[in-house]
Amino acid sequence: MIQIQKTLISEKKKRINKKKERSYLKQTGKEYITKTGKLVEAKSMKENPCKPETCPNKCHDILEERRKGIFDHYWSLSVERQRDWIVSHTKREKVKRKRTKDNIESRRKFTHSYFINEGEGQRPVCLGFFIKTLDIRQRFLHLVISTAEEGSSNPDKRGEYQEEKEKHLTDKVETYTRFQTHQYLRKNDNGVLCTTFDLQKVLHTPYGESMLLYYSRKIATYNLTFYESVTRNGFCFLWNEVAGKRGANEVCTILAKYIQMVDERESIKHLLLYCDSCPGQNRNKTVLTCIHKCLHKCKNIATIQINYLLPGHTFMPVDSMHSVIEKSVTNTIIWAPSQWLTVCALARKAPRPYEVEVLSHEDFMGWNGTSEKYFKGNLSGKISKIQTVTLKKNHTAHIEVKYSINVETETENIDVIGKTELMPKKIYKSRLLISKKKFNDLEKLSINKTIPAIYILGYKSLPHAASVQDILADTDIEDIED
Ligand SMILES: [Zn+2]
Repeated sequence: MIQIQKTLISEKKKRINKKKERSYLKQTGKEYITKTGKLVEAKSMKENPCKPETCPNKCHDILEERRKGIFDHYWSLSVERQRDWIVSHTKREKVKRKRTKDNIESRRKFTHSYFINEGEGQRPVCLGFFIKTLDIRQRFLHLVISTAEEGSSNPDKRGEYQEEKEKHLTDKVETYTRFQTHQYLRKNDNGVLCTTFDLQKVLHTPYGESMLLYYSRKIATYNLTFYESVTRNGFCFLWNEVAGKRGANEVCTILAKYIQMVDERESIKHLLLYCDSCPGQNRNKTVLTCIHKCLHKCKNIATIQINYLLPGHTFMPVDSMHSVIEKSVTNTIIWAPSQWLTVCALARKAPRPYEVEVLSHEDFMGWNGTSEKYFKGNLSGKISKIQTVTLKKNHTAHIEVKYSINVETETENIDVIGKTELMPKKIYKSRLLISKKKFNDLEKLSINKTIPAIYILGYKSLPHAASVQDILADTDIEDIED
């Protein structure tokens, strides 16, 4: 009986391993055999379908090396990040309802655009070019785009959804126009600086396309990046999960450093910040408190404005820094978290490399502690609707908020009632712990010499505890494509 059970267990293990292997091969675009024994060919970049006479996007000019680069990059990503890649390189916009000849409403409600990165921005390409370069099916592509859109809505608010979505699109266009105007302002007035900032997707270590690393728990490294339009300066602030979390305290600590740095240039009078509306990181009273306090200490900056972009934006220039960094590690293995510093510093050559700063647990300040009762009414019920906030050094008694990015929208003043001079204290007394399971996984990779000896030391010293829970990367999600 025991013997039978053992056999059953080992059979089950074999099946699980087979499944893991299959999903790994499938996700990385390799040849694999389905559950039913069918052979699925490896993904391979297909011929550029665009012809000079018919293509409006000049896709035929795009070099084969560039296309191969895109293909390799895409297939080096995990399932989640492949989907993210698609979403950030496509745009879905509602079209005005067309009526056909028979006066029947046309069913086509959306128009899609596809992009690839070029320089610091994105260039439009044709659908055919997009799917042939990645070797994915159109059906799969559209499924990803539409699930991404639905996934971002709150299921409790389905009724308001349509209306909200329309507002979202108008706002998106408004934001874009506004952003362009701001960049233009900067060109004509050196006292204005327009900066976008964003957290990059988590960088995992060890990182690389290897079956040996695939199922190991990994160390997370976070990268908050700032990109200045026109000057084209790029800044990376890196820390790993032992140094800090990815919350408002971390964002504020770095934002404070950045504001101080800009102030020290002496030439900047107006700082225009753009970021996404993520409540955990950017759109919260802690960030607004931080900016208010920092501006108070500035010697040269007179106004700071923060603009919150709507979900699904595709044009934030800072995001191109992320693609540049991600592209630079295609077909590379990153063995130790500290290597990300070098990766970011070497990712761009022209006009100059990105500036990189690494933070330790001692750098992070508890900004959230200073934000309670800082603004009158604590911004309750308002914060999630705020689109832009303007803070002026000579009017520190209040901040000016707008609930739409539209220039015509009225401004509401919110009084500051907290102590402006009170600055936060360090938040982490010691390094944060990783889980025992993660520590063991990494130790296993060290013992079996998967991780080269020179990188092992960094892992051995990681603080860990059995009580720490991991948020496991879900490696078993089945691909949407069948
Ligand atoms: Zn084309």
